[in-house]
Amino acid sequence: MINKIDYEKIFFEISSEFSEVDDLGKIATYIPELGKVNPSKLGIHLATVDSQNYSFGDSDELFSIQSVAKVLSLTLALKIMGRDLWTRVGVEPSGSPFNSLVQLEYEHGIPRNPFINAGAIVVCDILVTCLDNPKKQLLDFIRKSSGIGSVNYSSKIAESEKKCGYRNHALINLMKDFGNIHNDVDVVLDLYFYLCSIEMSCKELTQTFMFLAYGGVNPITNQRVISLSRTKRINSVMLMCGFYDEAGEFAFKVGLPGKSGVGGGIVAIHPGKFCIAVWSPKLNKKGNSYKGMKVLEALTSKTKCSIF
Ligand code: GLN
Repeated sequence: MINKIDYEKIFFEISSEFSEVDDLGKIATYIPELGKVNPSKLGIHLATVDSQNYSFGDSDELFSIQSVAKVLSLTLALKIMGRDLWTRVGVEPSGSPFNSLVQLEYEHGIPRNPFINAGAIVVCDILVTCLDNPKKQLLDFIRKSSGIGSVNYSSKIAESEKKCGYRNHALINLMKDFGNIHNDVDVVLDLYFYLCSIEMSCKELTQTFMFLAYGGVNPITNQRVISLSRTKRINSVMLMCGFYDEAGEFAFKVGLPGKSGVGGGIVAIHPGKFCIAVWSPKLNKKGNSYKGMKVLEALTSKTKCSIF
């Protein structure tokens, strides 16, 4: 039985407390299109497994979910390839920035985990190998498992990133040299950039990721997205690796599995209880939403509701 908590009141309290605090982050401008977003946006949406919904601010506005989408590509690749996927990418925290090249060289082209850029690129390579029309089939999978038919890529953002994604080009070429990319690098990167360009609102994110709070089933559509045991694994990798070199900090301060993106979005899961999405575009030095992290820390502190 879930205790009824007035989350909307708590969101209001948190945002009033933060209106006094400077939002110290900086918007991501290395993807030129992302630099056009209004930096003062703040959206929060929390959905419980028993269909209660609580929102605040810009929670219905679409934004670029960026690396949050890496959880969805991993989910599809795991369904298709099963445990063999873990021979191509690890499950350990990297302790390095999301776009770092350093570890890849001495670990022979096997990325530490599927959420750093290199790992997500390998997952895209797997999808290119296994699917006839990966871009369409990935989107179909996301639409079907979320129950939101309007979810889409933003070609503006994908093409903007493609033009200056020099590090991602370096990462994929290094892995290709080590034999861990099996397809044409441009085809794989095209899928990767489109994956990162997906747009959703905070509300849509909670509906899409709710399966991770509900044992692999989306309670809204009643569809099984993935098995219970793989739900456990995805949540574990989120807890350990969802925030790159700040994963420890997020677990320490928030205490939930989660995933961030450079669009300023964060999704966090309380298995068996709720899914929450926060959007605030300014990022801290590690590339995670500055305010988003603070909102979630305040939420789990005020409600005393983390997984620990
Ligand atoms: N598309 C971004 C990149 O490849 C994703 C990074 C992120 O959201 N952390 O750099």
